[in-house]
Amino acid sequence: MANIVNELKHFNGRSGLGAVMGNKRLRPIVVRGHDRIEPKDKEGLQACLKWFRDHYKRDADMLHKFGTSRNVMAMSADSILPTRNFLEGQFEHAKEISGQTMAETILTDEGTCYACAIACKRDVDVPERGVTSKYGGPEYETIGSGGSVCGVGDLGAIAKFHQICGEYVMDTISVGMTIAWAMECFEKGILTSADTDGLDLRFGNAEAMLTLTERIGKREGFGDLLALGSERAARRIGNGAEEFALTVKKQELPMHEPRGKQGLSLAYATAPAGADHMRAPHDPADDPTKVPAPYRIFTREQLLQMPQQSQFLLMNASKSDDFYAQYGGVTLENLLDDLLLGSATGTVVYAPDGFSQSHPLYPDAAAGLYHIFGDYPAAAYYYESVADMAKNPAGWCKYDAPSTAGRNNGDPIVNPAGLKLLLAIARDGAHLTTGVLNKQNKLDGEGPFRVVPPQKLPGPPDQRSTAANQSVIWPYDVNADHNAGFSTRSTTIIKVEPLPEGTTDINLLEAGWPYVDEAKIVVYGAIDPVPNILEKLDALEATLEAASKKDFRNRGLKELLVRQVKTVERFVEWGWYGLALRILQNELLPETDACYVRPARHSNDLIADCDLHKQVQWALNEIVVLVNIAKAEKVTQPPPICHISRLCLRHEALCGTQGRN
Ligand code: SF4
Repeated sequence: MANIVNELKHFNGRSGLGAVMGNKRLRPIVVRGHDRIEPKDKEGLQACLKWFRDHYKRDADMLHKFGTSRNVMAMSADSILPTRNFLEGQFEHAKEISGQTMAETILTDEGTCYACAIACKRDVDVPERGVTSKYGGPEYETIGSGGSVCGVGDLGAIAKFHQICGEYVMDTISVGMTIAWAMECFEKGILTSADTDGLDLRFGNAEAMLTLTERIGKREGFGDLLALGSERAARRIGNGAEEFALTVKKQELPMHEPRGKQGLSLAYATAPAGADHMRAPHDPADDPTKVPAPYRIFTREQLLQMPQQSQFLLMNASKSDDFYAQYGGVTLENLLDDLLLGSATGTVVYAPDGFSQSHPLYPDAAAGLYHIFGDYPAAAYYYESVADMAKNPAGWCKYDAPSTAGRNNGDPIVNPAGLKLLLAIARDGAHLTTGVLNKQNKLDGEGPFRVVPPQKLPGPPDQRSTAANQSVIWPYDVNADHNAGFSTRSTTIIKVEPLPEGTTDINLLEAGWPYVDEAKIVVYGAIDPVPNILEKLDALEATLEAASKKDFRNRGLKELLVRQVKTVERFVEWGWYGLALRILQNELLPETDACYVRPARHSNDLIADCDLHKQVQWALNEIVVLVNIAKAEKVTQPPPICHISRLCLRHEALCGTQGRN
């Protein structure tokens, strides 16, 4: 478990290299030099640096703002956040231990490796636990190993865990995983408090986790056994304990779930150092043979042209003030109804500050899951002057929205079209205020779009959980429906799961803050690919048209390729995906699979310019994947067949319908 450390907070972790040094009685390695290191290609390096300077937007980079734990919530939503010794992939306290919460609470500064512009490292202070930023702060691996994998949802405790491991120069992954293994053994009765020096080692016990970390560092009592790592400790304990030690070559698994990041299964199994997350792509989405999933981008103007729904709602929060308001916008049901493929199972909604929320398609009994299709129950308006912040300084609910005028306690809250999960565009008649990150890295504002769920279990605005006085008419109720916490402010992305075969995530960074400023939202994943196919065919046609005739093997071939692309476009418009695929696979792909270089004879290669050939091949491969999805899902119905010819491409004048029927 022992590491090598530099400047108290830069670690060479994993594999116990510190133990090797200790065994050889080697304490430090000091390196000193006088010569400058000259890059082999100075101009190339400078050009690279200039490109990065021109293109890198630090203020919009989540890695800079929230560090390596920026994706904790998204990983939990995707069921790949190792939780309770890998028994689960979703952690109910993911938000509390996320990089976003860290930025809002204990972060004092962003740290960096030498000369790195990104500065993803964290510096944190937690004075009440004696945590100081001279040890830096927890990164993703430590957030997972001291947090979710031990069931601990307390960021201050994780920061303390990080510091103790820093003080004793221990690998946070191996320490956290060894404690998580002991916790599972404790829960299963293989270990008892007689074995653990009296520690109640159940998952989630932050104080026991910290005490044990300290004892491992000092090699005291039960900690002395755990300092051997989970595999050796399990062998000594026996009684089935080995079954719960998750190691490869005696090294504990890092915080990446190989059941969700399948590339890592092989990497863990074959890496020389055992379970090693630095040796292979982490995600099936990193596959370069996959193409971006189908997507649609909507502007506010386009959304405003769709059927609008207005609904009066209570936004009931746990820790902050509640309020009533009239939200207007598009129901997610209406937005997605025509887009979804039959294979769609649910959605994840994202905001650019990293917040995400899962929404199943249909009603789900789980608390916190707000469905898209179907109504929510009618509610009632609750009014009490003691809760009214305008009437009582200790109140906890805002009743100041114009839409509350004329309402009385007990009035029903209904909607003729049913209360729905709403993509809100306006609140009480005005566009939602645009979201911005304030100086504390907190999101202010809620627009341009906010996914707003009505309450599944309608109830009154209950007192804040943090309020000292709970002797009020509606005290804090942990079981109440705090729907406000499940809304997504400044929504920019709706991902429809699962991604279709052969596709991967779109570039999500693009749909971040720029989309907030431009009032746009992107929906991608298991959705109708036809608009994208037509878009890509148009772009391909334009590329071919713009090319010089000299870029082709002979002058007539440019027109031939353009004609074939147009034919594919027609077939796609008609829903004749099989025929479209036949032309794509039997003609276009073979004709463009290599560039024609004289004097070699490749009679089926039509393109002579190698750059153009690459562009065309990539575009065609993307189109083939998307047409295959459309064919498998049959996402559109073919229009009536032309009365002149089944394959009519030219009779616009006769049909008067652009040759389509
Ligand atoms: S070089 Fe260091 S600071 Fe920069 S991104 Fe990598 S780990 Fe973070």
